Amino acid sequence: MHEWSLADAVVRSLLRFMASEGLDSIEEVEITWGEILELDTDIFERAFHELSRGTPLEGAKLVLREEKAHFRCNSCGAEWDFKTADEMLSREFEIMEEPTGVRENPLHFLPDLARTLLRCPRCGSRDFDLIDGKDLRVSRVVA
Ligand SMILES: [Zn+2]
Repeated sequence: MHEWSLADAVVRSLLRFMASEGLDSIEEVEITWGEILELDTDIFERAFHELSRGTPLEGAKLVLREEKAHFRCNSCGAEWDFKTADEMLSREFEIMEEPTGVRENPLHFLPDLARTLLRCPRCGSRDFDLIDGKDLRVSRVVA
């Protein structure tokens, strides 16, 4: 359940921000989260509100915005998305298919492994970057 630790980090940093800016309350906060995190937004929202209770952050409206993940090849410049990467990895990881059809997403918990196994779909290079959709940040605060 990384939603709780992410929400905790967000609440802490917002409280620090409010203290440093001298804000008594926040009307709305927008969080942008990377697709690769596969955030459960219901759990995150609940965690955020529970952790905000009794703090100056209580009552703030939470807006969650998903940012799609994109990879870019440093050799040929090709770009591809999370779905393509996931399909490539799934082919490498057939062993991870459960008989029930339930499959953990290998990209989700093994980003380093993804780096080792993924290749540019166009030129085959392993020299690529995940250019967005990889982290979670406070993208907007309305006080
Ligand atoms: Zn390439």
